[in-house]
Amino acid sequence: MPDKVLITQKLLKSCENQIYEKFDATRLYEQKDPTEFLRDNGNKFTAIAGYGVDASLIGKMPNLKMIANFGVGYDGIDINTAAKRSIAVSNTPDVLNDAMAEITIGLMIALSRKIIPADQFVRQGKWKAGNFPLQSELKGKVAGIVGLGRIGKEIALRCTAMKMQVIYFGRTDQKDQPYQYFEDLMKMAEICDWLIVATPGGKKTNKLVDADVLDALGKSGFLINIARGSVVDEISLVEKLKQGELAGAGLDVFDDEPNVPPALFEMDNVILSPHQGSATRQTRNAMGQLLVANLEAFFAGKPLLTPVI
Ligand code: NAP
Repeated sequence: MPDKVLITQKLLKSCENQIYEKFDATRLYEQKDPTEFLRDNGNKFTAIAGYGVDASLIGKMPNLKMIANFGVGYDGIDINTAAKRSIAVSNTPDVLNDAMAEITIGLMIALSRKIIPADQFVRQGKWKAGNFPLQSELKGKVAGIVGLGRIGKEIALRCTAMKMQVIYFGRTDQKDQPYQYFEDLMKMAEICDWLIVATPGGKKTNKLVDADVLDALGKSGFLINIARGSVVDEISLVEKLKQGELAGAGLDVFDDEPNVPPALFEMDNVILSPHQGSATRQTRNAMGQLLVANLEAFFAGKPLLTPVI
């Protein structure tokens, strides 16, 4: 099989360099007219490296056999169309768990201690007029994890280290886990101080955290979303924050990135993070290496290291 790889979106430079070293690679995103390029050359490529591959792109590549996704979440890939065409898909699980768990705890501590407003308080010279108001701590609070998967489990470990009580919601009661399971998200949200969203995106989890779940979380509850914007009803979230019906939110992901609802800019009980959960040098390098290792396995006729399908 010819090892021709099409890089559809800009990836980490070191990852792209390796793809160029090891395979016959082309950057689609650098083409003047990608549509014309695909019409003339789409049949030449066997594999894609990228993170957004829809049915239309797959349709323009009749000899496509493999999609190497840069990321663990593969909601940007049309898996059904890939499966129908027997196209293999890989992702980059596990190597980003620690970075994801760190940003989650970072958002939580920053919110509970108001670290960003406190910094402004000092810089603006307000300290001279009196002390910053008392805040709350994480110790003793209940952290409800929506999706106790690879990332969720690392978050749970760190919440335990913060002396929080961890509970979780998902479709499966994971009996080997030491945390209490809830099959009803509303019931879990009612008793949570922190609701931490760590599921995949896509149709099945679309607006899983809706207005009712946010109501159940209530005035003293914080929402953390490091999963995908689609999992939370963003319009309801903004409305509830505006009305003071939630204590605050830490958001790494949004419905229509990089567009963020401007109403959130005014709120000092909200922390906005530009989808940078896995964006550390170590983790992105590890993701790039895993992507390349999957491409190598594919072209060598070996099983993928981390197959999605
Ligand atoms: P994972 O190991 O597959 O875990 C996903 C968890 O979600 C599982 O515990 C699963 O449990 C639960 N889940 C799946 N579908 C569900 C549904 N319909 N309803 C309720 N729970 C559901 O995935 P992971 O590696 O932890 O990654 C999780 C997600 O994090 C990724 O898919 C991605 O969207 C997001 N992510 C974000 C960033 C970022 O930069 N912000 C970076 C990496 C990943 P059950 O099967 O028991 O339901």
